Amino acid sequence: MSNPHPGPPIPLTATEVDPAEIDALLWTDERERERARRYHRVRRHIGYAESATSLTRRLLFLRLGGAAALEAALHRSLPRESLVAPAFSLAVSTATFVLDLPSSYLGGYRIERTFGLTKQPAPDWLRQRLLGFAMGSVFQAGVATGLHALIRRRPDDWWLILTGAAVPASLVLGAIFPTLIMPRFNRFTPLADRDLVERLQSLGQQAGVRVADVYEMDMSRQTERANAMFTGLGGTRRIVLGDTLTRQFEPDEIAGVIAHELGHQVNRDIWTLSAIGAGSITVVGAATARFGPPAIERTRRWTGIRRHDQVAALSVLGLVATAASLAVAPVSAAVSRAIERRTDRYALDLTGDGEVYARAMARLGRRNLIDPDPPSWRVRLLSSHPPITERIATALTYARHHRPT
Ligand SMILES: [Zn+2]
Repeated sequence: MSNPHPGPPIPLTATEVDPAEIDALLWTDERERERARRYHRVRRHIGYAESATSLTRRLLFLRLGGAAALEAALHRSLPRESLVAPAFSLAVSTATFVLDLPSSYLGGYRIERTFGLTKQPAPDWLRQRLLGFAMGSVFQAGVATGLHALIRRRPDDWWLILTGAAVPASLVLGAIFPTLIMPRFNRFTPLADRDLVERLQSLGQQAGVRVADVYEMDMSRQTERANAMFTGLGGTRRIVLGDTLTRQFEPDEIAGVIAHELGHQVNRDIWTLSAIGAGSITVVGAATARFGPPAIERTRRWTGIRRHDQVAALSVLGLVATAASLAVAPVSAAVSRAIERRTDRYALDLTGDGEVYARAMARLGRRNLIDPDPPSWRVRLLSSHPPITERIATALTYARHHRPT
């Protein structure tokens, strides 16, 4: 990999920058910063309320015998046994969708609208949400059916087979998502700004990544947040820029954002993240296989679920899996943060311009109304990225040690 700006090693988390300098770059005034704080406070509260409601509902569904009763009713009314698992899954996901609609409207739309993060009209939001639900619930029903069949046939090592299948499945999904799913929600057009296309292509060349095309996506349909991504596996990549990015960012800053994405490509982070994902699925699967059946056994008197290989048992196994996922989430978040730090450093070396990169991060932070000071426990447990202030500090520190060429 050619690295045109191999500077002296500086710590990845630089702290020699005055916080006031970062704030001045990030926020136009104190009011804006306070607005970002308020946005995150409101979101957190809605998030806690949603989690509590969802857990209560899932427990009540089991406690009141809902899962067992639903399964029995489906057995009675459906002509074929094989239809019970998909029908069960569809019924549960439909009920969940309907019951969650008010809170997802509030947390997923109303708040965004209030804080200026979306201009999407409510009917359009609802239509897209229904479309997402339709596609998601069919997919989920397929997964539930396969999982149930697997648990029946391989009661001891189903979770190992699940892991083996999950990795190729997630790679296939990742590959078809941009080509089959995303065009149902957004329009992609070749980027009209040919200078920018050439610039990004030569940046790709510098990094050793062949960039075939650069597309613009009408992301502003759903959100005012700016974003960019790479799509395609194999030798050739496509760059997709949100119109929110192309309209609001300077070409220099867009190059900085793309340099970061190139870093992910060059280091093949998708494989690292897939490996982490596979590891998480293995642990969650093993924990569910280990603790699920005793949990079903111990709660059978009040759930009415007798065996772990019956369809309704998926509801209990789902709860056990949720608990296990929460336990492993901090590990994958920590790996992701380390990858993001390395990728920021890569982008700085590739562009050689810390000032521009700091400006790009600041604009992203401001546009996306990023949390100005997330609680450190939250960062450690959940954040996939380092706090924006840390990323800006790294870029400014880099700028002090390297003059752009
Ligand atoms: Zn990244």
